[in-house]
Amino acid sequence: MRKIEKDSLMLIESGKPTFHEILEANRAYAESFGDKAKLVGAPRRRLAILTCMDARMDPAKLIGLSEGDAHVIRNAGGSASDDAIRSLVVSCKLMGTTDWLVIHHSGCGMQPYTDDDIRHLLGLDGVVHDKGGKWHDVQKSAHTPADIHWLTFKDLTKSIVEDVDRLRNHPLVPASIAIYGFIYHIHHGRLEPVEEANRIGAPRTKPPAP
Ligand code: ZN
Repeated sequence: MRKIEKDSLMLIESGKPTFHEILEANRAYAESFGDKAKLVGAPRRRLAILTCMDARMDPAKLIGLSEGDAHVIRNAGGSASDDAIRSLVVSCKLMGTTDWLVIHHSGCGMQPYTDDDIRHLLGLDGVVHDKGGKWHDVQKSAHTPADIHWLTFKDLTKSIVEDVDRLRNHPLVPASIAIYGFIYHIHHGRLEPVEEANRIGAPRTKPPAP
């Protein structure tokens, strides 16, 4: 446990942009905005991507997408959480996406932990910690939620198969949606299809006519 906690603190790095630098960078972006005002909310490629929030991944770049091409839903681990499903259902029902990509990645920060580890690090398991530190500064009260599912995982491939399976069998997910599972390798940038996930995620009916 101590080692895990120490490793997590090592993630802190310098290089944070100032407020001014953020606005400057956005000004430069807006100057080359081009004709993106003409884009519509429905993704042009009819794609939605569910993936991890890891800063080493740019989901659009890694499969050659631009603004307007796809929905991207991100969370810690890229899990098919209830809220991710909420977004994906909106994505297909309101915005017409037909193909979903579930991308988890090597070196994910959610893999070394269990849900119990995180509850412990946050002091939600009743264990008294020393004061201070990034994990121990939670203001605990009777209202502090102790039952959050942190959606950690041990096996990368299995986590993708399980998430695709959850999506495929969710009552609000149309059978016509094609769901694909991939591992993204952070050390060489390639996507590896997960065969079992793709078998489970194959559409079961044809999509309705547009
Ligand atoms: Zn991750």
